[in-house]
Amino acid sequence: LSSKLPNVGTTIFTKMSKLAQEYNAINLSQGFPDFPPNPKLVELVKQALDNNHHQYAPLAGLGSLRETLAEKLNNSYQLKYSAEHEITITAGATQAIFTAISAFIQPNDEVIVFKPAYDCYEPAIELYGGKPVLVEMRAPEYKIDWQEVSAKINANTKMIVINTPHNPTGTVLEKEDLLQLQQLTENTNILILSDEVYEHLIYDGKEHQSVARFPELAKRSLITYSFGKTFHVTGWKIGYCVAPKVLMKEFRKVHQYNVFCVNHPMQWALNEYLQNPEHYIELSAFYQEKRDFFLAQIKGSRFQFIPAQGTYFQTASYKNISNEKDTDFALRLIKEKGLATIPVSVFNKNQKDEQILRFCFAKKKATLLKAAEIITSI
Ligand code: PMP
Ligand code: GLN
Repeated sequence: LSSKLPNVGTTIFTKMSKLAQEYNAINLSQGFPDFPPNPKLVELVKQALDNNHHQYAPLAGLGSLRETLAEKLNNSYQLKYSAEHEITITAGATQAIFTAISAFIQPNDEVIVFKPAYDCYEPAIELYGGKPVLVEMRAPEYKIDWQEVSAKINANTKMIVINTPHNPTGTVLEKEDLLQLQQLTENTNILILSDEVYEHLIYDGKEHQSVARFPELAKRSLITYSFGKTFHVTGWKIGYCVAPKVLMKEFRKVHQYNVFCVNHPMQWALNEYLQNPEHYIELSAFYQEKRDFFLAQIKGSRFQFIPAQGTYFQTASYKNISNEKDTDFALRLIKEKGLATIPVSVFNKNQKDEQILRFCFAKKKATLLKAAEIITSI
């Protein structure tokens, strides 16, 4: 049997969470909260079930939810998207990303991807015959070298994937980055896939630079979001994609056949919950407190770090502790110390000798305390 994805194995998240269970380790690897969502949201799901929202939702998602999201996008980024034509509710951001790539990428199209990168972009590009063109961001600041991007753009460049706030590094793009991207792609047909699942997890007063703030970019962009990240419900697998009508028309052609529509009662509950903007505005402060608590606890350790600017991931270097490969070090940490993390090299196969781990701090204080005890003892 010839595999269409010969180089793809099981994702690191599955592997690490499984090992964490096996070794009864504290799990700061796969990104998910270990605390429950707001009981009000759970109550709304119960209401949705009682109110008999059990049948198929419309293909693009509940109209009321899309209206609410159009308003939210306009309030946040001052760009008007049409609920009818430009927003589609998806089975998590993962399906939105996969659908966006499959709707547009054809054999030999080049797609620029910044490394390290979240793991779902490249397999989808390759599955459709596209060629990922990699641009490295280097630790510890992980800045994008726009001159390098410029040198890699050519007539075959179909799409550029950006992700801010960024998984796994916890960095964010600045306005200047978006302006550079705009300048480099102005007057081209290059599409932007902007993965903004962590839009509300941004710290120290920074503003999220959505492509939606830049109309010249937005007219060629598909943006992906995730309620799993925003409302502490990663297991619900609901997100959405936003794009101008001409792009969304193509997106929906694929969406209708790879899922048709997604979970109806949850959409109903999310729409009700979104009526109170506090529910997402409060997230930055909520997670900033967790980041600061975690960092204060591990300050005395031998790990070196720059505080995450966004996401619920903190990266740290252990080069003062060991020069083992990060995959080996992470494995030993689970087996010998009872702490599961993600070795950052899995997001960048070409990475050389960087001793960096990713820690998820979307955890209860008690969990963070136990993890910090281990981290400071190494
Ligand atoms: N993009 C990034 C950067 C992510 O970290 C994740 C995973 N949480 C996703 C997309 C996928 O989101 P979802 O769980 O909604 O599919
Ligand atoms: N986005 C999550 C992370 O980065 C994991 C999602 C998944 O398991 N696919 O940890």
